Amino acid sequence: MSTIRVRFAPSPTGHLHIGSVRSAIFNWLFARHHKATFLLRIEDTDIQRSTQAFLDSQLASLAWFGLMPDEPIVYQLSRQEEHLKAARRLIDEGKAYPCFCEPREADEVIHALEQGAGAKYSGKCRNIAPEERNMQKPHAIRFKLPDSLSTVTFKDVILDTVSVSTDQLDDYVIIRRDGTPIYNFCVVVDDISMKISHVIRGQDHVSNTPKQVLLYRALGEQEPLFAHIPLILGPTGAKLSKRDASVSVEEYRAQGYLAEALFNYLVRLGWSHGDDEVFTRDQLVEVFDLDHVGKKGSIFDSKKLQWLNGVYLRASSSEKLLGSLDLIDPVYRKNLEAAWSATELDALLTLYKERAVTLIELYTAVHGCAAEPTAHDVSLIAKWQTAQTPAMLQAFIDQASALAVFDHDALAACGNAVCAEFATKLVALAQPLRLALTGGTVSPGVFDIMAILGKERSLARVQVLCDALV
Ligand code: GLU
Repeated sequence: MSTIRVRFAPSPTGHLHIGSVRSAIFNWLFARHHKATFLLRIEDTDIQRSTQAFLDSQLASLAWFGLMPDEPIVYQLSRQEEHLKAARRLIDEGKAYPCFCEPREADEVIHALEQGAGAKYSGKCRNIAPEERNMQKPHAIRFKLPDSLSTVTFKDVILDTVSVSTDQLDDYVIIRRDGTPIYNFCVVVDDISMKISHVIRGQDHVSNTPKQVLLYRALGEQEPLFAHIPLILGPTGAKLSKRDASVSVEEYRAQGYLAEALFNYLVRLGWSHGDDEVFTRDQLVEVFDLDHVGKKGSIFDSKKLQWLNGVYLRASSSEKLLGSLDLIDPVYRKNLEAAWSATELDALLTLYKERAVTLIELYTAVHGCAAEPTAHDVSLIAKWQTAQTPAMLQAFIDQASALAVFDHDALAACGNAVCAEFATKLVALAQPLRLALTGGTVSPGVFDIMAILGKERSLARVQVLCDALV
């Protein structure tokens, strides 16, 4: 086993975001490629915003993708004692100090920093001698920025070398006054404890990295190799938001995207392997690397995702399609199996998957086909309807009912013969037939559908329309 260890570290404060899961995918592929270890850490320290429901939803999304960790999940909140211990160690070594400033004063400084005002903590408590500190008094713990430091430099596999001036940094808080550790500190303490060798995450974390790097060094540890992957962007070039597209894995699953298709799509968003677009998971494990991850953000393209989903739908067996529907809601499979025999269902899924974009679209079409169309919207066939349409449909019914074998070829021959008799093109017969069979004018081949529905059901449907048109 390799010493490479990577982790995905989501916060359970919402459903799993597609940008976030792309980080998980990159970590997982990197681990599998190097025969290394993939870990999962749940960053649940924001107890106001973290919920069990979001955690369950995120774990379900990861399981849906098959992104399971190689070791038990680490829950960050359960490690608070370790975080505090590390902070106390930094105080003992003179690398951090308790800060007794009133919260209001400290809050204002933090707020000003968050607003980019450049305000820095005054350093008021920095020089209080250890013996003069009244540790009974409420206090936060601040990291002591090394005095002589002017820049922080770290290596990034994707961004190369990143150097940041310490001008904007102050003695940042690592443990709040209420005793809870700050995010940047927990991440470092946990990554050290989990022996993480590579931190692969979104570029939105680049700005946190200098603070984290300083903490690694203060704790006497070599920082991991960072790989900050570009963000997924919306059409305007800003970070993809809910206004641009669905952003949670859960939504794509519910809309009928296949896990394999979304996985494949997300991998290609930021990483490339020549012009290849479609990969099996084994192929990805084989060829994935960080060298071919771009620096710039990639624009989310729903059309391409739809195309890829179609590719995966067409490549899926009926059993696989039913299994995937089951994962959205077992009621879908139940409805289909109640409406069709196993043979009919297989034939219809095979026929309809050729044109479907999502599983839900496929389900709706195949399920919809079971209902007998009654009130037909004849305006849909206005373009092809003539005075002879009812007679033509009746001739088709008469000839088709005499067929010994009711299959596509026999029905096509019958349709062509009727069209020849009425001196019209096949479409003038096919579109009324389609309306009669499916209630619409867009569907796979009518003779294919008739062969699956069988003689009795098909011709009864055509007769209903024929009678309505007379
Ligand atoms: N919990 C952080 C997030 O969800 C990830 C932190 C990290 O990967 O270092 O964005």
